[in-house]
Amino acid sequence: MTQCEDVYFQDKNMADDLIKGFLANPEEEVEHSSMVRNVAIYTLGKIIENNNEKNVPTGIIILKILALKEINSTFGFTKGDSFLINCLSRIRQGLLPGDIIYKISENEFLIYYSKIINEGHIILAANKLYKLFKQPLSVDQDYITAKLRMGIAMYPDHANSAEELLKKAFFALDKAIKDKCPYSIWPTDQQSETKSNIILETELKSAIDENTIYLNYQPKLHIKTNKITGVECLARWESPTYGLIPPDYFISIAENADLIDALTLKIINMALCESRECGDNNNFSLSINLSAVNLLNSDIVEMIRRAINVWDTRPDKLIFEVTESAIMLNPELSLTILKQLTNIGISISIDDFGTGYSSFSYLKKLPVKELKIDKSFIFNLVTDKEDAIITQAMIGLAHSFDLFVTAEGVENLETLKMLSDLDCEYAQGYYIARPMSNEKLKEWVYQ
Ligand code: C2E
Ligand code: CA
Ligand code: CA
Repeated sequence: MTQCEDVYFQDKNMADDLIKGFLANPEEEVEHSSMVRNVAIYTLGKIIENNNEKNVPTGIIILKILALKEINSTFGFTKGDSFLINCLSRIRQGLLPGDIIYKISENEFLIYYSKIINEGHIILAANKLYKLFKQPLSVDQDYITAKLRMGIAMYPDHANSAEELLKKAFFALDKAIKDKCPYSIWPTDQQSETKSNIILETELKSAIDENTIYLNYQPKLHIKTNKITGVECLARWESPTYGLIPPDYFISIAENADLIDALTLKIINMALCESRECGDNNNFSLSINLSAVNLLNSDIVEMIRRAINVWDTRPDKLIFEVTESAIMLNPELSLTILKQLTNIGISISIDDFGTGYSSFSYLKKLPVKELKIDKSFIFNLVTDKEDAIITQAMIGLAHSFDLFVTAEGVENLETLKMLSDLDCEYAQGYYIARPMSNEKLKEWVYQ
């Protein structure tokens, strides 16, 4: 990987201060940040002038590290600082000599790319950064995967001054955060987006009331016995205006529009009802995803208890999947909710493992039965040595806590074989089966 040596801060002392972390006084911090921003605007202005003379465009990315507050509160400020320094080194690995990086706020970096010829180039650069950050950062004893969002803007296509360029990159960053995408590029048509979100919210509300949300089921294979032992329920929705909407997208609309509890309840009832109809397959475990916002409302436990009674379901066949970042939104309340669910007899699984905080000390406290390794580690398991090392470490960690492991995103036989060699218990992925309707599932199981 190219090590960037020419990366520099305009003012070395200021940069050192900033890298070390936070200033004690928030007012000072604001003043300090705006000073760095001004320096950045000034330097960008000079760069634009220079590039203009050579007829080359100027491309920037504003990169934001998410959830720094939670990392500080979970691991403490010293680790938070080391984490940030590690983030900076990771960013540097994605840069070339001549590129510049500024830390413009507590958790935001401005990156200027010196060798950008067009928009495609800067998108490649953003992808490179995204890929670099997929691997967890080692911070003392812990491994933390930094989640990032990037806003991209180009001069002269998107702006006619350095200040304007920065503004556009920040707008793009906001959009990336809102859409939960790794990056977004200006221009973003904010007006039409607001309009489409309002339409989607209204339609989603009707869909919940009128039962037009439906479920697909993805089988889960027990690797050693080569038997299907469970399914994961995945919600589907077709908007009358926009067609099929990706589930993570409509889940986030439901979260923002205060519809998530109603939606989750619908999904749970549907899953329990359909699994009852499945008769013989009743021994299948049923994995249901909980949203981060569900873990902020303790009423969810009673709602689940009632659904179990209505459908006369055995709670021990239910697994609720939650992500680490969802738990971290309110660790105390989440822990209480998860404990109450396990008291009923339900199992808890940590979904997308490896992409969140992966705090080993915290994991010990959670009443979980299963870790689901995120598909991003599994896709290239056979060809990518680092992915293999991390996956093996995650499986070892899970086993040392007496947890089962499911690997998701298994797309070929080689990956399945390798997971078997690594002693992973369960596998899920397109190689085994794609998510399918309840009817198809019944046929698939009997074929
Ligand atoms: P997830 O919980 O990680 O679900 C697994 C996703 O990976 C599913 O995407 C599934 O179709 C996909 N997948 C499974 N195997 C493979 C594979 O081999 N290759 C590839 N490329 N993809 C694979 P889907 O159905 O689009 O769901 C996306 C996300 O939406 C889910 O990620 C989950 O976070 C959320 N979601 C889906 N249904 C629900 C739900 O009922 N409630 C909540 N709260 N979230 C849901
Ligand atoms: Ca899941
Ligand atoms: Ca997952």
